[in-house]
Amino acid sequence: SNQLMAGKRGLIMGLANDKSIAWGIAKALADAGADLAFSYQGDALKKRVDPLAAQLGSEIVLPCDVGDEASIDGLFNALEEKWGKLDFIVHAIGFSDKNELRGRYVDTSRANFQLTMDISVYSFTAVAARAEKMMDAGGSMLTLTYYGAEQVMPHYNVMGVAKAALEASVKYLAEDLGKDGIRVNAISAGPIKTLAASGIGDFRYIMKWNEYNSPLRRNVTIDDVGNSALYLLSDLSAGVTGENLHVDAGYHVVGMKAVDAPDI
Ligand code: NAD
Repeated sequence: SNQLMAGKRGLIMGLANDKSIAWGIAKALADAGADLAFSYQGDALKKRVDPLAAQLGSEIVLPCDVGDEASIDGLFNALEEKWGKLDFIVHAIGFSDKNELRGRYVDTSRANFQLTMDISVYSFTAVAARAEKMMDAGGSMLTLTYYGAEQVMPHYNVMGVAKAALEASVKYLAEDLGKDGIRVNAISAGPIKTLAASGIGDFRYIMKWNEYNSPLRRNVTIDDVGNSALYLLSDLSAGVTGENLHVDAGYHVVGMKAVDAPDI
């Protein structure tokens, strides 16, 4: 345990269960002394999120569907009342129709394109606009992205297009909010078996491919992502904004893996 986050208060959005990337991040932050609030989507998740929040000593667990402006306002009004100020936010939210996370990108429907962009991209900007008002003393905002934004990955399709837009929005937000001492960054996580990931076609194969082809020859864990998030959300990264930190066992730097066999 360290005290990197002592005295800091932050909101974690996107916790669904103990496999969630948000859980890895929340654990690392709580271990570093942060005070956490959680938001969850819909009543079905409340019974999962309540005990996890309690485990980290958090008493603030609030509903928020990021597709609904009034719901976002409700969340931030409640936080304003309880805390008044905010030091950081974590946005670990994405959504697309899983029927379109397989097959060809070209077959994406207009309705699912719009929904995917709304929930996976615009929501971060919508949340940033509210959080900014509670960050008079500066702050740090973090979202989660994937390499499918940069290069074509099988089945990622419209989500790859959405993540590309999310990564661009991180840069625009960094510029807008930087003069107020608010930093905005992304983590590009390698594939991790979560609820959201289980909707992606051939996900087990994608994980195997990453394990074999990344420089570290392994997949990353939610704790790997959590510890890197701690860096981006703490003052250790005070000079860093608009960044996309790859926590992917190095996969993104490899053009072609060397053949390991010594006799070739
Ligand atoms: P997860 O299923 O645990 O989390 C996704 C969360 O999004 C859930 O808590 C869900 O409730 C929330 N969500 C979806 N629609 C919402 C809405 N309308 N309002 C509020 N919340 C909503 O899966 P995860 O893999 O931990 O996903 C977290 C983030 O990490 C996502 O942005 C995902 O794209 C990203 N990511 C995941 C991987 C991976 O391999 N798992 C890799 C890179 C990036």
